[in-house]
Amino acid sequence: MTSSDNSWNDRTKLVHSGARRSQYGEVAESIYLTQGFVYPSAEAAEQRFVELGQDEFIYARYGNPTVAAFEDRIAALEGAEAAFATASGMAAVNGALFSMLKAGDHIVSSRALFGSCLYIVEALLPRFGVEVTFVDGTDLDAWRDAVRDDTKLVFFETMSNPTLEVIDVAAVAEIAHAKGALVVADNVFATPVLMRAMTLGVDVVIYSATKHIDGQGRCLGGVVLGSEDFIRGTLEPYLKHTGGALSPFNAWVLLNGMTTLDLRVRAQATSAAQLADSLAEHPAVQRVIYPGRADHPQHAVSARQMQNGGTMLALELADKEAAFRFLNASNIAVISNNLGDARSILTHPTTTTHQRLSEETRLELGITPGLVRFSVGLEDVADLTADLLAALDQA
Ligand SMILES: *Cc1c(COP(=O)(O)O)cnc(C)c1O
Repeated sequence: MTSSDNSWNDRTKLVHSGARRSQYGEVAESIYLTQGFVYPSAEAAEQRFVELGQDEFIYARYGNPTVAAFEDRIAALEGAEAAFATASGMAAVNGALFSMLKAGDHIVSSRALFGSCLYIVEALLPRFGVEVTFVDGTDLDAWRDAVRDDTKLVFFETMSNPTLEVIDVAAVAEIAHAKGALVVADNVFATPVLMRAMTLGVDVVIYSATKHIDGQGRCLGGVVLGSEDFIRGTLEPYLKHTGGALSPFNAWVLLNGMTTLDLRVRAQATSAAQLADSLAEHPAVQRVIYPGRADHPQHAVSARQMQNGGTMLALELADKEAAFRFLNASNIAVISNNLGDARSILTHPTTTTHQRLSEETRLELGITPGLVRFSVGLEDVADLTADLLAALDQA
């Protein structure tokens, strides 16, 4: 039996939706750590290959009960007709784009992308004959100029990594839809808790579940959400034959992550707003980038489409040396490159996540040598504030 009720509010969905109880009536979700399924008869096997019934499975690359529970839970939260879970966020991005595109297609993409997303759009798609036009995602005129009658889809991160540029999702969706183009968005930074991308016009929503959905830095995972037609008709055939399936064990970890997702993201965002203001006062900080602050260039857009400013912020210090001194001096935040974790995480994008880019591209994207990305964790905010202000004294 599958539990779900579309009238439930978010927190109830996050705890119960998608759960499947076996005949034992277990409280916690079972992990169906199985690659395949036994059929009661040869006739039943034949029938299942002809048409898969509700909650029937053939092979874990195609689907698995624990993975299905995760898919149903995230689809219930997002308000999507269907979802397909993947081995990582990048398998989700790759699947969403490659399942839909073919040689000769044209797409428009925001330039401010996560490094691996940029690699797919800038290096891989053109190799297969897809024409890509890049725009500054915050410039609506640029989108208007770039989207053509034959544009197949537009792609962007709703909030960019690491400079936290916010895209006006509803406005870009309107421009794309007017030309018949689909809207595909990576909503990782905004999270499914704080932004409902589909209500703003996004057709296909992508998450790296590795980030806030797990939220405890344990495993990789991803998911693509969309219409029943798109997920079952376009994405699923591509993913089930190319092998980007999510492990049932990881699906179970993510299911449990989801039970606390709403609480964690809201607590992290409350701390982030407070820290953004406290750290902005420190003389070593040239600029704080936080969409929840009035001085953020897209503050109004962010306030319109997100419930608050989110869990991520960025600090601009004088130079690389100052940034390194700051990272090394914090006793609470760890130096790493995950985000959305219970642990606060400091990242120096220039030398790590965005090292591969040319200096010119980095600067164009606002990734200066003094920029520090800060994923705000669940620690006590007074402890974090004291620790980071002291670390800034060392910068
Ligand atoms: C991390 C991340 C991804 C990739 O997710 P993985 O789970 O690491 O594969 C994609 N997009 C954004 C915005 C991310 O932060």
